[in-house]
Amino acid sequence: MRSNVIEKIVNSDLCIGCGTCAGVCPQKALGIQFNNYGEYTPVQEKNCLNECGLCLKVCPFSDGNENETDIGTKLYGNIDGINYLFETGYYLDSYVGYAPNFRQSSSSGGIVTWILTTLLKNNVVDYVICVSPQHNPDQLFKFETFSDVNSVLNSSGSVYYPVEMSEVIQKVLKVPGRYAVTGLPCFIKAIRLATQKNRKLRERIVFTIGLVCGQMKSKNYTKYIAAIAGNDSLKKIQSVYYRGKSPDKPASNYYYKFIDEHGSQHKIFWNEGVSEAWVNRWFTPNACNYCDDVFAELADVTFMDAWLPEYSKDSRGTNIVLVRSPKVLNIIQEGIEKAEINVSKISVEKVIQSQAGVIELKRKQLSYRLYLAEQKGLKTPEKRVNASKDIGILKRREIKLKAKMQEESKQLFLGCYKDHALDIKTFRAGMNPYINQIRQLRLLGKFALPIRLIKKISKVEGKKNE
Ligand SMILES: Cc1cc2nc3c(=O)[nH]c(=O)nc-3n(C[C@H](O)[C@H](O)[C@H](O)COP(=O)(O)OP(=O)(O)OC[C@H]3O[C@@H](n4cnc5c(N)ncnc54)[C@H](O)[C@@H]3O)c2cc1C
Ligand code: SF4
Ligand code: SF4
Repeated sequence: MRSNVIEKIVNSDLCIGCGTCAGVCPQKALGIQFNNYGEYTPVQEKNCLNECGLCLKVCPFSDGNENETDIGTKLYGNIDGINYLFETGYYLDSYVGYAPNFRQSSSSGGIVTWILTTLLKNNVVDYVICVSPQHNPDQLFKFETFSDVNSVLNSSGSVYYPVEMSEVIQKVLKVPGRYAVTGLPCFIKAIRLATQKNRKLRERIVFTIGLVCGQMKSKNYTKYIAAIAGNDSLKKIQSVYYRGKSPDKPASNYYYKFIDEHGSQHKIFWNEGVSEAWVNRWFTPNACNYCDDVFAELADVTFMDAWLPEYSKDSRGTNIVLVRSPKVLNIIQEGIEKAEINVSKISVEKVIQSQAGVIELKRKQLSYRLYLAEQKGLKTPEKRVNASKDIGILKRREIKLKAKMQEESKQLFLGCYKDHALDIKTFRAGMNPYINQIRQLRLLGKFALPIRLIKKISKVEGKKNE
């Protein structure tokens, strides 16, 4: 019997829950459900009779499929004026700026919402597939297909909550038309793999809009942050906005806003506990540990925050835009001419600088994670970097500690969550030893550089005196 994604991907804990396998399965043998950790995962709903293996061929974490460089070369490699860097993948041009009319209600500069609404208004596409709020505590967000501008406007904002594409893929297969889709790098890769295998998907998905991504979070992450923000019943939360902006704070110190069924609100800022869970990888799916695509290399255009000192102080938010498709370049140029967007060119070096942390995470740190997994005999997906332990001793310790926190946060949550409430005290008591260790490590890191410098200077001085 040929294996499918359940055996090869889900059972090795390498599934990101994108839903593409379930979306394309010709027998509808797979469904997508939340597991106990609040991550989407495929389940076998019917026996797989013809064992076509299509689920594996569209899975971004399955071995044997083309990687981002191979697919990128086919999509963009022959475009006039195209450039390539290992960090970014292919690119034509890069911009920094914002869309004045969309900026306030968007995550960063609002250019994603501007481009999606422009595609609809100018009849370039018939449908936009993006992620929209559901006002349902069990499923706060989902991918939806829209043909009207207002629904796209209501879907602005980054969503740090699991979403899956099985339903929207089935819709594209059923309803003819031209579709634009937004997605994280692994989701866009899944779409590209699926379009390679299916003519209808290839003809109908005409625009792919990528978002830079450092990690995804489970549903339990949102519950945890809601609990520390002061929501006592997590069942009552009807909506979450993850990127609230305050005029008196830099763009990086955004807030999450939770609204319950009676309209009462709880807010929590990035520096009030959100960052601790985010940067230490609490509630991050294991699949994200094996991801090497920073810039959504297979998207026609990729958007990110301008995390550069000259922009990140501006509370209103600023985008960086990395363009790969000439069609998108034209749309951007028209937007500039009509003053619908306020952007200027930015060098690719600056683009890379703006995502230095994510690049380190997905390249150098990934090498070490692959090495650790190899040592443990764990199955890992094929990657474009090799396993290696060639990384500083403090970094090694940090990576190992974060991996422990990632796992511990998932398990501890299960023990501390009862009747839609989280026992925060017990959860924190379980996580505190790791937090203390990571603090000590950072302190050590602060001293390590001066000590290394002193040693170097002493060595030079020693040589001079010889
Ligand atoms: C999980 C995640 C991690 C990210 N990590 C980084 C990072 O490390 N560095 C960085 O610079 N930027 C990151 N981004 C991208 C950044 O947060 C902004 O989305 C991007 O700058 C676009 O901003 P905007 O104001 O133009 O978007 P908006 O105008 O607010 O529009 C965003 C659009 O994306 C759609 N969308 C939101 N969430 C998702 C999702 N999960 N999957 C598919 N579509 C979605 C929305 O429906 C909306 O249409 C991340 C985004 C996400 C969702
Ligand atoms: S296609 Fe997506 S949902 Fe299916 S196994 Fe792969 S990662 Fe998981
Ligand atoms: S880090 Fe990679 S695997 Fe994880 S959600 Fe982002 S793109 Fe997907």
